[in-house]
Amino acid sequence: MYKCKYFKLYELVPPEIYKGEDYLKHWFIFDDRCLRAIDIIREKFGKCVVNTWKGGGSHRYRGFRPFTCDIGAYYSQHKFGRAIDLVPLDEDVNTVRQYLIDTKGLDGLITGIELDVDWLHIDCRNYNGLYLFRP
Ligand SMILES: [Zn+2]
Repeated sequence: MYKCKYFKLYELVPPEIYKGEDYLKHWFIFDDRCLRAIDIIREKFGKCVVNTWKGGGSHRYRGFRPFTCDIGAYYSQHKFGRAIDLVPLDEDVNTVRQYLIDTKGLDGLITGIELDVDWLHIDCRNYNGLYLFRP
């Protein structure tokens, strides 16, 4: 099992389901490619924010979204543990996104990237290549 080096579980799941960092079933939710990808991005580009609810912020659905969550698409990759929205703090989001496109999604780790948004949506959907889409 892969656990993130740089991200806590509370950054990846919403408060209504969070049961602590060692609750394995929540790590099991995620496709490990997604978790590996955000660690690589963090290592290369510096600090990135995902969910902020633990510190009193409003973001809670940037990682896993329960099926009861009506934010985003009905079959959003977030609902399958295959998507994460990052906000890079030390680097421009477009620079990071372009790097991921140029490296073909970190050599295939990432298969979906959303364009024209202020955050960095990455996912590892069932796709051969890199699926680029707009909101
Ligand atoms: Zn997203």
